[in-house]
Amino acid sequence: MRKPIIAGNWKMHKLAGEGARFLMDLREKLPEAEKVDTVVCSPYIHLPLLTEAARDFPVSVGAQNMHFEDSGAFTGEVSPEMLKDILVEYVIIGHSERREMFGETDESVNKKTKAAFNHELTPIVCVGESLEQRENNETFTFVEQQVKNGLDGLTEEQLKQVVIAYEPIWAIGTGKTATSEEANDVCTHIRQVLKDTYSEDVAQAVRIQYGGSVKPANIDELLSMSDIDGALVGGASLEEDSFLKLVEAGA
Ligand code: PEP
Repeated sequence: MRKPIIAGNWKMHKLAGEGARFLMDLREKLPEAEKVDTVVCSPYIHLPLLTEAARDFPVSVGAQNMHFEDSGAFTGEVSPEMLKDILVEYVIIGHSERREMFGETDESVNKKTKAAFNHELTPIVCVGESLEQRENNETFTFVEQQVKNGLDGLTEEQLKQVVIAYEPIWAIGTGKTATSEEANDVCTHIRQVLKDTYSEDVAQAVRIQYGGSVKPANIDELLSMSDIDGALVGGASLEEDSFLKLVEAGA
């Protein structure tokens, strides 16, 4: 049985104090950690406050990106070692906004994924096709390539801990959700790719989230699908009530 994982991606929203209050307000309300993994991924500068606010209750804090080197002359960047030092546990890698706007490639995704494991951070590796690729029936081949390139060279033990977020680009922040069948078909394909490339054990262990306009109204159906183990959520993770509903749906 794979434990569901619900992760909020705040993107470039909220001031640090608002973020800390959000977590404090959820303190008594979140389901137990045995039932669901709850993650909040905030802008870098909020992270120390959030990891402090999240102490002793069932929520983990994640970053939305990082560099793959431990340190060096990389102005404006943040390293995995720095994230680990302030008790961050997760890191989103290769979000489509970073691929589209900040030059992220499968190669950098792969380096960052390996770097995450070097510092005991759990990577949430994002994959997903554009509308054009979907219309040209390229979804499966494109996503398959992203998965293989992104995870290349990881050990079996590392692979089992990876979280993959399948996020069709056309469904992110648009209000258009893939139907639960469309979403599940791609997640099933990803699991098959993991089985063919690595092993049945890896395929069964990896958690695959769906992301793209997930909200309280559609989460139950998405989570009822065989290969969807959770959600990576943008817009609906910004309000405490809706985020709590999403997490409760996962529990
Ligand atoms: C995301 O940011 O990963 C995302 C899926 O956004 P939204 O839920 O707003 O579509």
